[in-house]
Amino acid sequence: MNRLPIPDFFDDHVALHALSQNTRVGSYPHLQPYVDAMRGGYLQYIAAAGNASMVHAVPIPDEIGKYLLGHYNSPNTDLLHIKELRSRSEVNTCPMCGSLHSGTLDHLLPKTDYPEFAVFGMNLVPACKCNGLRSTHLIGAHDGERILHPYFDNVLGERLLAARFTELGPIPVASLRVLLPPDDESFPAVKFHMDNVVSKTGVLQFVMRTWAKLIRRPGQLSTELAQNPSSKGELRMTLEKELFRLDEFHESRNNWLSIFVCGLLDEDVLEWLYAQFSRPGRFRDDPLLTV
Ligand SMILES: [Zn+2]
Repeated sequence: MNRLPIPDFFDDHVALHALSQNTRVGSYPHLQPYVDAMRGGYLQYIAAAGNASMVHAVPIPDEIGKYLLGHYNSPNTDLLHIKELRSRSEVNTCPMCGSLHSGTLDHLLPKTDYPEFAVFGMNLVPACKCNGLRSTHLIGAHDGERILHPYFDNVLGERLLAARFTELGPIPVASLRVLLPPDDESFPAVKFHMDNVVSKTGVLQFVMRTWAKLIRRPGQLSTELAQNPSSKGELRMTLEKELFRLDEFHESRNNWLSIFVCGLLDEDVLEWLYAQFSRPGRFRDDPLLTV
């Protein structure tokens, strides 16, 4: 998950106008009667700051929707921004789910349900394979429950999610939790996004694999953890330093590794980890648990 700058190297209105005037494409002249309505939709999308519960669908015939989907799949010269957005989609952390991959473009409002936004640049965000895994539900039953938008939702720049470990041992139980207080105005949207985008991915398998690595050889996570901390406070400081390093390196406070380390800082987990680090007879960088 991440907040991204709004891409500003193209103008969606100019692109749509040029496309509608292009006599060499199959959608000519069928697209023309719908250009004004679509431009209105683009403006309303931006005015609603990409909030899925406020963006109005623009009714267009199926035939026009199919033309637009075809244009998205094979962008012509009027739509070079789509090619450019695709080539720029290799970002450090998936803005939608926080995985350490990306490389594809996701239609935030899905192109099958909102074909009118199929070539709209503000609806195209970099993503990883979570693109195909996430629920097509964009809003929930209660106020404020909705998918977050990387170009518009500033809250994505804050630390939002942490792993939660219980039944601590070689194979703990892992889940995700929202770090905002439940009365925060963004809580319902963050929780909805966590449940419908992030939790649909392999994030918990990743977190469990990383836990196993930490238990096997703590220095794998951070070289400083190869040394035994002299106190619980020192372990906390080392993990906090690692958390900030990961945030910076992956350019996101909600990348999966930061989500993992944030979960280690829970008081009960920290206590348990420190007890393992300081087990009598354990040498530096030995496994944290004896088999
Ligand atoms: Zn993703």
